[in-house]
Amino acid sequence: MSHEIILDGSKGEGGGQILRSSLALSMATGKPFRIHRIRAGRKKPGLMRQHLTCVKAAARVCSAQVEGAELGSTALSFRPGPMIPGRYSFAVGSAGSSTLVFQTLMPALITTGRPFEMTLEGGTHNPAAPSLDFLDRVYLAALRRMGVQATIKVERRGFFPAGGGKWTIAVATSGALMPLHVPERGRMLGRTAKVLWNRIPPREPERARAHLSAGLGWDPADIESEEALDSPGPGNVILAELRYEHITEMVTAFNPFGASPEAVCDGLMADVRRYQEHGAPVGWRLADQLLLPMALGAGGLFRTMPLSTHTRTNIETIGLFLERGIEVREMERGVAEVEVSEGLP
Ligand code: ATP
Repeated sequence: MSHEIILDGSKGEGGGQILRSSLALSMATGKPFRIHRIRAGRKKPGLMRQHLTCVKAAARVCSAQVEGAELGSTALSFRPGPMIPGRYSFAVGSAGSSTLVFQTLMPALITTGRPFEMTLEGGTHNPAAPSLDFLDRVYLAALRRMGVQATIKVERRGFFPAGGGKWTIAVATSGALMPLHVPERGRMLGRTAKVLWNRIPPREPERARAHLSAGLGWDPADIESEEALDSPGPGNVILAELRYEHITEMVTAFNPFGASPEAVCDGLMADVRRYQEHGAPVGWRLADQLLLPMALGAGGLFRTMPLSTHTRTNIETIGLFLERGIEVREMERGVAEVEVSEGLP
């Protein structure tokens, strides 16, 4: 029987990613783990609904034996069985992020080489999580280059704080996973933005469009406004997409509590400029999200912006489960080169 890996959830950033990554790594490697001080670095430590859904979903997919899977729990043990790819449904039961639940299961499930399908209910556009648009246009776009095919069908979007979204994703791999190599962006192919809204005064998306167009110098025709009538609750999200030959980046600004559209756009534009001026292909958020599928898949190399604490913590967590390493090289002009050795021991 595999030796149990012990994790301290307060390490590094002390957030939920240590738990989510451990679940994925444990499912894929078959190594059991025990974690204590879960999310000790957060204001409300312990398992919130989103984390608990991740634990229960992971346990279902691999028939794991679990102790401590309760709301607020700060310690958990997880002993996985073999993964069974198939058709699953998971509901976060609140506005908690459904995309994070998917990102916990997917990197492990793709290692089976078998197709699977998942219906998820919960938040689709939450601050501090990848939006469903980011997941599709950026994360899955990168994974498609590794040989992962994924198709999303959205029944309804669910914006924070009300949540209530529902979507289905079908995933398959075409043969063995391929390494991902993204050392540069390549040619710019296009840039567009979208104001996605529901139940806010319609003047606000128009103000946001005008402000973005003036501030970024983008053609107003490239800044769309979409009323998300499918969403059960109000929404106000701005997404800016930058498409290059080898990578797509998306910067997102959330405005759940009625701040001025101009102020929200200013924050988003600062992030867009930061990415444009930096030159590295992989944005700092995508960088932390690519580590798991690459480490469990066929590895590879990418260049990114200075690593976030989130990314560093994720690298440490991966190192506890996998022998082959992740090497980070600091290069000129704040570029970090991340090389991920090929996957499972
Ligand atoms: P906790 O759940 O304890 O608050 P966490 O580790 O789960 O902590 P975050 O650090 O906020 O949460 O990040 C969760 C994930 O969401 C990370 O992978 C991060 O890259 C991603 N993420 C956060 N905001 C965005 C965004 N605007 N666009 C894309 N991805 C994002």
